[in-house]
Amino acid sequence: MRIGFIGLGIMGKPMAKNLVKAGYDVLVADKFAPKAVDEVVAAGAQAASTNMEVGEKCDIVITMVPNSPNVKEALFGEDGAAKTMAKGKIVLDCSSINPIASREICAELEKLGIDMLDAPVSGGQPKAIDGTLAFMVGGKQEIFDKCKPILEKMGSSVVLCGGIGAGNVTKLCNQTIVAVNIAALAEAMQMGQMCGVEPQKIFEAIKGGLAGSTVMNAKAPMMMDQNFQPGFRIDLHIKDLNNVVDAAKTVDAPIPLTQTVLEMMKVLHHDGDGSCDHSALLKYYQKLTGEVLHH
Ligand code: NAD
Repeated sequence: MRIGFIGLGIMGKPMAKNLVKAGYDVLVADKFAPKAVDEVVAAGAQAASTNMEVGEKCDIVITMVPNSPNVKEALFGEDGAAKTMAKGKIVLDCSSINPIASREICAELEKLGIDMLDAPVSGGQPKAIDGTLAFMVGGKQEIFDKCKPILEKMGSSVVLCGGIGAGNVTKLCNQTIVAVNIAALAEAMQMGQMCGVEPQKIFEAIKGGLAGSTVMNAKAPMMMDQNFQPGFRIDLHIKDLNNVVDAAKTVDAPIPLTQTVLEMMKVLHHDGDGSCDHSALLKYYQKLTGEVLHH
């Protein structure tokens, strides 16, 4: 079986390398990132010069690109992989996109006799490198069963959440929870320092209790160090929260917390902080108060 991999960015590059490491025959393409292509080829993959070549030569085509328009372009654009894929082949889209777009893409592929799963991930670059990502998957059970062993080479958790789009709905839930958590952490740490308690003491005292979280353990030290190296960029999180807004609108779901944090992130984007890690939500509070969080 040959696996195609389109999109070798922060996440795609290590994920493709892990497939090579697991012994799969992997054909990669990313016309915008030739250095990443060279790096994955050096690790044992083969390079395709176009997405159409990937479609033609592979049984399963994985896409790991930024957002819905990029997935549509990679599959159906001028150089779209789906144009050359034979009936019975599978698209495995690991990008975090709008679930409505996942359903549209799946419907287009179905017309060509191609199956699809949406399989976004949580875990970020370190877990992509370690092969310990968490996959949230949507699609048919039999396609999931075929693809699960492949996903398990890139992740430590692979859960079928429902039909097509269910993976991206679950990913949007993940992104809301993370965004609101980071904002709450920043707000509380800033308030605590302004009330006269050292942030490090606040962190130490509450991390083992109910307020403790993976978000707190990862992001509180970054906030106290004023280290906003990504990680996960504010701009990508804005993309995800905009997708939450779009998805919620279709079912009239109330999302006041998501809306608030999205507005905060947009302020940071307009201030030139869009490429910072999402822990830079702290900057929103620092700018309002003129006070910088310290250790
Ligand atoms: P990235 O911007 O680093 O990489 C995307 C890659 O896709 C780029 O190399 C780009 O050249 C390529 N690409 C775009 N359109 C293409 C096309 N038509 N044909 C071929 N290649 C194309 O993004 P990333 O951080 O790797 O994220 C990818 C997806 O994973 C996004 O949806 C993101 O939200 C999600 N995600 C990212 C993280 C993270 O921590 N970075 C964590 C979880 C999920």
